[in-house]
Amino acid sequence: MAEERKCSSTTCSKDSCKGCDKAQVDFSVKPNELTHVKKVIGVVSGKGGVGKSLVTSLLAVTMNKRGHQCGILDADITGPSIPKAFGIRDKVMASSQGMIPVCSQDGIPVMSINLLLEHDTDPVVWRGPVIANTVKQFWSDVIWGDLDYLFIDMPPGTGDVPLTVFQSLPVDGIIVVTSPQELVSMIVEKAVKMAELMKIPVLGLVENMSYFKCPDNGKEYRIFGESHIDEVAASHGLKVLARIPVDPTLADACDKGLIESFEGSCMEDAAKALEEKENV
Ligand code: ADP
Repeated sequence: MAEERKCSSTTCSKDSCKGCDKAQVDFSVKPNELTHVKKVIGVVSGKGGVGKSLVTSLLAVTMNKRGHQCGILDADITGPSIPKAFGIRDKVMASSQGMIPVCSQDGIPVMSINLLLEHDTDPVVWRGPVIANTVKQFWSDVIWGDLDYLFIDMPPGTGDVPLTVFQSLPVDGIIVVTSPQELVSMIVEKAVKMAELMKIPVLGLVENMSYFKCPDNGKEYRIFGESHIDEVAASHGLKVLARIPVDPTLADACDKGLIESFEGSCMEDAAKALEEKENV
């Protein structure tokens, strides 16, 4: 239930506000009482298909291998792809205290609508508010246990569900995923402005499908065109956390549910940047 509260300088959307009387609604949702999450990180993109779910999965896998207990909340309700990347087929169980996420082979708890549907090919044909409420329940009704990081795979764009996540969950920061063929500047600017509105820090950018490294001659080819990520990052004062190549073995690992066995170091710098943020 949303609570009404008086505006204060920390809650008003106007930076200049010194504490007006405008009533503000607090949409924050309490976690399950058995949930203790240190950092909640949203992974966002301007449009679908740029590799947001892949980046979310790789980040969780990399951070997990570096000794941080990680979980993944799949908020992409109409296009869930996290369970497939991890080869998870078991369904979510529930106890009297809440829903129990399904753990990956390496112990990463995952919650996704596909783990509740009878068949993972069943479409979710629901109205926006129902989808948004489902995401809230993935926070309030799921027993996440003790986690260092919960990564949220957000649906693309700046619609209803990202807004719900930002307003209802304690998101500590977002990572923006782009690809070279996107209108990077515009997309990053939209994400940055939304984050500013919601007072959530942008932790950095990840460029996916950045280049292709030819296995025959070791040369790098910019098959989707020259990257502008450095200029865009600099113009917003942001860091480029990772550049991921187009890699058929990566796509194959995702398709076969073997993302945790993928041997690559493309997210190591991003992982270090997250650890540095934690130490600040
Ligand atoms: P999104 O979450 O942005 O919709 P996905 O992460 O589901 O995108 O990726 C879309 C498809 O592209 C998936 O099949 C994924 O395996 C593939 N893919 C993403 N990034 C790469 C990459 N760097 N190299 C090869 N395939 C990729």
